[in-house]
Parts: sequence; structure tokens; C-alpha cells
Amino acid sequence: MRIEFLGTAGAIPTPRPGCHCDLCERARKYGPPHARMGPSVFVHGPDILIDTPEEIRLQLNRAGIDHIAAGLYSHWHPDHTMGRRVWETMNMDWRTWPPRPRRTPIYLPERVAEDFRSGKLGLEEHFAFMEKHGTVGIHVIPDGDSITLGGVRVTPVPLAESYVYAFLLEEGTTRVLIAMDELAHWTPPDFLRGCDLVVLPTGVFEFDFFTGERRIPRDHVVLQQEATFRQTLEMVRALQPQRLIFTHIEEPDGNSVEDLQRIARHLHDSEGWDVTFAFDTMVVDV
Ligand SMILES: [Zn+2]
Ligand SMILES: [Zn+2]
Repeated sequence: MRIEFLGTAGAIPTPRPGCHCDLCERARKYGPPHARMGPSVFVHGPDILIDTPEEIRLQLNRAGIDHIAAGLYSHWHPDHTMGRRVWETMNMDWRTWPPRPRRTPIYLPERVAEDFRSGKLGLEEHFAFMEKHGTVGIHVIPDGDSITLGGVRVTPVPLAESYVYAFLLEEGTTRVLIAMDELAHWTPPDFLRGCDLVVLPTGVFEFDFFTGERRIPRDHVVLQQEATFRQTLEMVRALQPQRLIFTHIEEPDGNSVEDLQRIARHLHDSEGWDVTFAFDTMVVDV
């Protein structure tokens, strides 16, 4: 499998409009790896797109991706779904009559489908609209089930926050776990131990990694909602992956590319991990 990181930001991409901090200014001046668009991953081979942030159209053009065999959604949150109109952009046919739109199958884990149906962010209405135009076909993956796409078995793995799923991708003996976001309160189950590659969101940096200085006030609501980086490291210790890639990197955490490289080196030296922080356009083979 070839995994391409189309966007490696979280809810707050870099540069953030109106912000003139060093991170944002460097991102404006130099682009990637300093600039990060919203969270999205493409799996070449089975040609699966996971999540559609608002910049997805730009990301697909940047990556030169012409064909998407299937779309997956990890959860309903806006940073993962607001680019959903890309299915119309890519598939609508305005030239032939009767129109022959391309229809991309969209697979939703059971609880994600429930959240779409319950009207969150107008997702149900918009996907019904696209389905009527023939540009998407919606399929639900019941909890506990898998689908196979292009020879890759895809299993949604429910996390502790019940509205969100990671995806386990298996091809032969190769196992890849991709968690796009929302690891709060999660204890990784034993069957996920030892994957060839694990992709995880960093979580928020409550403390400076090196000095231990508090960066986020103890009472801030974000600490109730999000896993912290320290908590995420505990999950990695349980998962024991062969290779680890962090993504969903938030501008407000204030880590530069060099800061993240230093953290990765430290974790490599202290824990023995093969660890990288992703950047937009990064491609890995596994
Ligand atoms: Zn997110
Ligand atoms: Zn900034």
C-alpha cells in the first residue's frame, strides 16, 4: 500500500487567516512542509480517500489524483467533512444527455451514518442531494463488518468516543491502522498490537514536550474533549507499531517543523520508535 498525506492539519490549518505568528508567516512564504491543509489521507492501490476537509479539491489536484474508487468518513466533524462537495465537482456530467455522472461509493461506519442521518451539519441533506444527482452512492458498514476494496480489507474500528472510527487496512499480512482524529479516552485493543504502520493524530500539546511547561490552561475545555500528546504516547506504547506517523497537527499547538523533528528524534532515541510527523504531500510505502 502507498499512503499519501493530502492534508496534515487538524481543525485549525496553517496558515490561519489573520494570524501573523512565525508558523503562519513561514507557511505563507514557503508552503509545505510548513503549510498544512485539513486532514485527509489517500491510499493508493485500492484508491481510497479518507475524509474530505474543505481544501480537498486543491489537495487532489496537488497530488495529481485522478481516480477515487471509494470514499470513507471517520466521523462527522466539520474539519473532516466540509469539502464533501468535491464528489459533485469530480463526478457531475454537464456535457452529455441524458447525463452520465460518475458515481463514487461512499462507505460510512454505522455510527457515522447515524450522525449523518440525524442531520448534523446538513450532511444527510447534502449527501441525499448528491445521491439524487448520481454522483455518490451511500453504503453503511455495520459495526463488526469489513469491506474489501481493491484487494485491501477495510475494517472500521470504533474508538472510545463512540462517534469516531479508525480504519484497519489489511493486504496479505500487511496491517495499517489509520486514526484520523479523536483518540480521547481510548485504550487500544490487543488485536491492533504490532501493525506495520500506525497513523495517529498528535492530540493537543498540553505541555511543552521538552520543558514540561504548561501551554494550555488546566481548565480549558479542549482538555476535556481531546486526547493530549502525552496520552497519545501511552496509546503508542500499547500499540507497539513497527512504524508510527503522527498527523492532525494543529496550528495553535505552535510546533514548527523543526520542533516536531526534534520530538521525533527524542522519541526514537528514548523509546526506540520509528516515528515521523507527517507533512502535506508526504508519501509512504508499506
Ligand atoms: Zn479533526
Ligand atoms: Zn499562526
